Amino acid sequence: MDLKSLGEFGLIEKIRSQFPVPQSITGIGDDCSIIPQKTGFDTLVSTDMLVEGTHFLLSDILPKQLGWKSVAVNLSDIAAMGGELVGTFLSIALPKHISVDWVEQFMLGYKEISDMFSVPLLGGDTTSSDEKLCINVTVLGKIPTNTSKKRSDAKVGDLVCVTGNLGDSGAGLKAILESVNRSEIVSHLISKHYHPMPRVTEGISLRNCDGVHAMMDISDGIGSDVRHILKASHVGAEINVNSIPISKEMDGACEQFGWNKYELATSGGEDYELLFTIDENYCKQLSIPYFVIGKIVTGDSLKWLGSENDFIGYRHF
Ligand code: ADP
Ligand code: MG
Repeated sequence: MDLKSLGEFGLIEKIRSQFPVPQSITGIGDDCSIIPQKTGFDTLVSTDMLVEGTHFLLSDILPKQLGWKSVAVNLSDIAAMGGELVGTFLSIALPKHISVDWVEQFMLGYKEISDMFSVPLLGGDTTSSDEKLCINVTVLGKIPTNTSKKRSDAKVGDLVCVTGNLGDSGAGLKAILESVNRSEIVSHLISKHYHPMPRVTEGISLRNCDGVHAMMDISDGIGSDVRHILKASHVGAEINVNSIPISKEMDGACEQFGWNKYELATSGGEDYELLFTIDENYCKQLSIPYFVIGKIVTGDSLKWLGSENDFIGYRHF
């Protein structure tokens, strides 16, 4: 069977089935692995790889932006559980044409976000690559025992919410790939794509609210990511596309270039906002900005309100 027919998640499931883990540990299937400790905290671990040509174009992204983004996408997975940051590990495979100056600029971006979130770099690996640049960051976090917000805890009746605008990053990527003129609006969208802000503080705030049930970060777009929550929680959902928060820049760019804003908001991916479900009665406890986009229902399917189309999110194969 080829990879396209098996799909990313089919392949991950195949791998998962061969490696059973002890019952106390949460392994493959959530944003982080959760490893209980005797300290009153669980350890959180996640890793993400960025490959030249697949995740970024070396000719377009600045090394400093790439350094920032490599850390940001990882911190986002700790945020997705509601965790606190402990440290990162950086492994890089560098093709020969990369200069020391390039690596220094990359590390400046890596340091800028590490300092902003007070998370130290604790180790890694450095090697050469024949052709493409490849970056892998692993992040460690911690969270009070058994307080992680998992994908599997959504309950029928919950509201489905997100912490911010969706689609800016996807629109930024589209602008890069279609080489559109970099007006102020377009530059704003591209900066959202290159400079995502992980919602670590918001994640901790949501973790401290008992009414928040399931949570994850939005990396592939809600068209894909909501389905992960549904599958893990054995529930369905109705999402109203007209309730999805969209920036005026994204709206303007879609108008100008004839792009489909719903497609970008649901399937563009790489927004790194948090997606969570909450018992409506607890909403007044939330002290962070959030937007209600739908609700959890019985069944196992995702129904879009306000559109005839189905939106499936970003597919890697
Ligand atoms: P995220 O988008 O939050 O980074 P992914 O969709 O990449 O998560 O991965 C889903 C789950 O599958 C995660 O729990 C991740 O750790 C696990 N996973 C992905 N690829 C592999 C792999 N090659 N081997 C083991 N686990 C994997
Ligand atoms: Mg994630």
